[in-house]
Amino acid sequence: MGDPREGAGEVFGMQQGSMGEGRARGVVAAGRALLVALVLAAALPLHGAAQDAPLAGRLGHGPALAVAPPVPAADPAGLSPDPCTDRAYTAGNPTWDRPWAWSFQADSTPDGLDRDATERVLRRAIRNVTGARNDCGRPDRVGAEARYLGRTTVRPGLSREGTCSRADGRNVIGFGRLPPGYAGLTCIWVLGSRIVEADMKLDRSARWATSVAGCTSAQLIEAVVTHEAGHVFGLGHVSEERHGRLTMSIRLDGICQNGESTLGLGDLLGLEVLY
Ligand SMILES: [Zn+2]
Repeated sequence: MGDPREGAGEVFGMQQGSMGEGRARGVVAAGRALLVALVLAAALPLHGAAQDAPLAGRLGHGPALAVAPPVPAADPAGLSPDPCTDRAYTAGNPTWDRPWAWSFQADSTPDGLDRDATERVLRRAIRNVTGARNDCGRPDRVGAEARYLGRTTVRPGLSREGTCSRADGRNVIGFGRLPPGYAGLTCIWVLGSRIVEADMKLDRSARWATSVAGCTSAQLIEAVVTHEAGHVFGLGHVSEERHGRLTMSIRLDGICQNGESTLGLGDLLGLEVLY
């Protein structure tokens, strides 16, 4: 399709906590077509249950992992239904009309993380979404597609303040600075009803693990990136209190917890509606 800026008058950053909440701050009118950037957050294990972080950011928590307590098992059990019966989802209307062709900014990988292992986990996390990975026995009815293009030195288009940069036509996952309280952020750029670019930035200063076996007081890349990949393909958030066991709930299940790497029924229904 070429450059997504084609036909776009002006690119502007629009930030909101989730697609479903519609709390856009700052909109700039543009030319013929509007290229809209949305930033979507994923977050850190904070005080037990964390995943998504516009909340944490707003509440002024510090860098989560630095202060994360030893894993209180997030309470998925509380009030939230089993993920295989919970039908909740939030889905806007913009979707991809082609595979999400993404690259990995491998040289941004934090010290202590193996680049090859990180790359493998990223690829698996994206496949968790496009392949409708679940423990519910539901067949893959999700038509979303992705293609891994390999490594790049291009950075994802998100500032350290967590705002979306100009679209550059490249879909990149990389590590870098994010505002305190955010494990990851995803920006999608939307032209009309199409998503034309999506970049994902993971907090470089957080403690990450590439596998449960190798995890000590860290958050799993796979869980966070699976959640973020939901945003890449157009899903928004569902409430942590009522739907905490779904991948698109706002908080991570906890330190060293990888439950969100498998999709729940609501996550699947949302993707099936979109694709
Ligand atoms: Zn999120």
